[in-house]
Amino acid sequence: MLNKNIKYIIRKIEAHNFKAYLVGGAVRNFLLGLEVSDFDITTNALPQDIEGIFHKTIPTGKKYGTITVIHDNSSYEVTTFRSDGTYSDGRRPDSVRFSTELIEDLKRRDFTINAICIDIDEKLIDYFNGIEDIKNKIVRCIGNPDERFTEDALRMMRAVRFMTQLKFTLDENTRLSIIKNSDLIKNISVERIREELNKILLSDKPSDGIRMIVDTGLMKQIIPEFMDTIGFNQHNPYHDKDVFEHTMEVLDSTKSKLSLRLAALFHDISKPECFTQDESGRGHFYEHEVKSSERAKLIMERLKYPNDITEDVRVLVRYHLLKSVDMKDKGVKRYINNVGIDRLENMFDLNIADIKGKSKIADTSGFERLEILREKCRNIIERKEPLSRKDLKINGRDLEALGIEKGHIYTEVLNKVLDLVLEFPERNSKEELKKYVLSLVNEQSDK
Ligand code: ATP
Ligand code: MG
Repeated sequence: MLNKNIKYIIRKIEAHNFKAYLVGGAVRNFLLGLEVSDFDITTNALPQDIEGIFHKTIPTGKKYGTITVIHDNSSYEVTTFRSDGTYSDGRRPDSVRFSTELIEDLKRRDFTINAICIDIDEKLIDYFNGIEDIKNKIVRCIGNPDERFTEDALRMMRAVRFMTQLKFTLDENTRLSIIKNSDLIKNISVERIREELNKILLSDKPSDGIRMIVDTGLMKQIIPEFMDTIGFNQHNPYHDKDVFEHTMEVLDSTKSKLSLRLAALFHDISKPECFTQDESGRGHFYEHEVKSSERAKLIMERLKYPNDITEDVRVLVRYHLLKSVDMKDKGVKRYINNVGIDRLENMFDLNIADIKGKSKIADTSGFERLEILREKCRNIIERKEPLSRKDLKINGRDLEALGIEKGHIYTEVLNKVLDLVLEFPERNSKEELKKYVLSLVNEQSDK
């Protein structure tokens, strides 16, 4: 049950007359037969004792009792028993009190399934019936859920996250308490919320978690913009589901990559706002991909996602509409350039998921159209033809030498040059393009 490194660490702490146990996610995942990636050890030794016992340590959260021990090239978090004081701000204990009692430490943990320990003899210590909850696949707060969520409102997101990751259900009192306390989530930093949301999104079936955050009222606090999709009838034969149900299906059909899952979550978020109906009563959503991408960007900026992920998501949402695949090479090149070569795989993955989420009459042709587009992109990329301004054999300095200063005309000229090269890649040489630019300039001055 305990691997030799964990045994080594626990034994070494105990050799100094302290107690130490493996606790938390490692024990839970072990009992579930899942992979264990990080190891938390809880002990009555103080942080400075741990630093004295081991050669290589990092004072990760020394104030809070946590020292990282490096052993055999792996790291282990060793934390002193704590009994947290009062939480007046709903997110952090006012003071961290170290304790000498294991049970005190376990009582302050979030869920029964996270409060099981293993001692050096591999005996399980389970004060709160966590083992039974693991057997019955239940996420249940330790103690009174209202109190626990009031202490630290992030636990509400964590409950949904564990439920989704582990395919568990929420204990009924725990669920009702989240509904009651959902507005407390606004006291929590967006970074902490975002990390839990990411884990939900990367789960096998993210829709389970998204539905639960919606149903408990958490979504209204975190991403209120998302709420309009719920129950929004599309009045369109290609869509037999409302925007929310369609989104859930697309979400579950994408690969588990963060930018892809976020793009799936947001790809149609502005459909309600773009809705129009024609005389026949059929629904249309013109430009919803533009509005949805703008909105996705704003939401992700508010949640402080890193810029590169935000940009990936913005682009995926912006170009998710499979418009015409009868594009000529020039159009395909523009498409590749807009999406970016590195994002094409994710783009197609989102397209496939999107087609899967539509009504079955809609899109057997969708898959074929996508394959045509994919093939066209592949051919063009293989031919290594110029795609964007940076591939042009003429640059800003050349243009300046021809008397064209940075500004409006400059941009116009470059765009025309790119247009030419996209259609006639063989004309991408400095000489040829200079001649072309001169002809453009002369044309201008003739006018
Ligand atoms: P993961 O597999 O995601 O790492 P984990 O259970 O190890 O799951 P961590 O966030 O690493 O989760 O936390 C380690 C342990 O610390 C938890 O198992 C739980 O006992 C306790 N814990 C973490 N966050 C909280 C919290 N906000 N409130 C109470 N206890 C917590
Ligand atoms: Mg952990």
